[in-house]
Amino acid sequence: MINKAIASVVPYFPKKFVWVFSKKYIAGETIEEAITASKSLNEHGVMVTIDLLGEFITNLSQATKNRDQYLHIIGAFENANIKGNYSLKPTSFGLLLDPEKCYQNIRTIVELAARHNSFVRIDMEDSECVDLELTLYKRLKHEFPKTVGLVLQAYLHRTSKDIDDLMHLHTPDSPLNFRLCKGIYVEPEKIAIKDPKKINENYLKLLEKLLFKGVYVGIATHDKALVKGALELIKKYNVPKDMYEFQMLYGVTPELRNSIVGDGHEMRVYVPYGKDWFGYSTRRLKENPKMAQHIIKSIFVK
Ligand code: FAD
Repeated sequence: MINKAIASVVPYFPKKFVWVFSKKYIAGETIEEAITASKSLNEHGVMVTIDLLGEFITNLSQATKNRDQYLHIIGAFENANIKGNYSLKPTSFGLLLDPEKCYQNIRTIVELAARHNSFVRIDMEDSECVDLELTLYKRLKHEFPKTVGLVLQAYLHRTSKDIDDLMHLHTPDSPLNFRLCKGIYVEPEKIAIKDPKKINENYLKLLEKLLFKGVYVGIATHDKALVKGALELIKKYNVPKDMYEFQMLYGVTPELRNSIVGDGHEMRVYVPYGKDWFGYSTRRLKENPKMAQHIIKSIFVK
């Protein structure tokens, strides 16, 4: 109850207090800081996926700016020989303002990444965006069969059917490549599973389906129970190492991350950076209100 109440006021937290929480989970505000953080992860045997923070823009000139920034990022990261790829949020490129313009913006980014033999992952945003993002993905995949991927959210009732509908696109020349996560947005019961146990059950059910069908999966979780379940499935289906990777967020559960890497599995860390860190941070605070309680304590209890 208290957690719910705290979650509802999180977006109204003063920025400087949210920064107290955020700085651990964000690689910095500049591209140089993101490159330094990525190099350090690479040196520890971990790949990265770079995300420029920002979403739900309100005018299309911001979309063009974001596109140009991503083009710059790709140039800089490829130049620095970072072992990594790119993640992006379509609402930063005008998804909800002008889907065609958004497609053109993202297409330009995917094209540049493909020229560098790299890869772009389309993050999945809230339920209002799911159909639009599926359409965007299918269109891009048609033109860039191996260098674009999508995220699936295990909390959505619809995801199993979405996978079934996408399977006909899975061919040797154009393999599907998904990141599977629980889902981070606050969604109504009608659309999303709310019980954490049931979300985990669905996560493993979907993961089994994808691994069984030979789809490449980015297993994105910090939940020990899911990591254990994933390792059991990998063993059960004898999944080769080049058909999956684990993925975690920057700054989250480094011990679990190190133990997975130590056991010889591929690991990729999602490295968010940029000046627009407020939305990213408050969403994580809303999801995990216990952290908000810690922040409130640190603010008021000296
Ligand atoms: P949880 O049960 O939430 O977490 C397990 C444990 O991990 C917690 O007890 C806690 O110790 C730790 N932990 C988890 N999250 C945090 C945090 N933020 N800060 C500190 N500790 C934490 N969601 C989307 O909806 N769309 C996306 O495109 C998307 N992309 C993602 C990409 C990656 C690489 C990852 C790892 C997650 C992504 N998510 C995305 C978020 C995801 O949906 C979950 O909300 C998030 O990962 C928490 O779920 P969990 O599986 O880690 O389990």
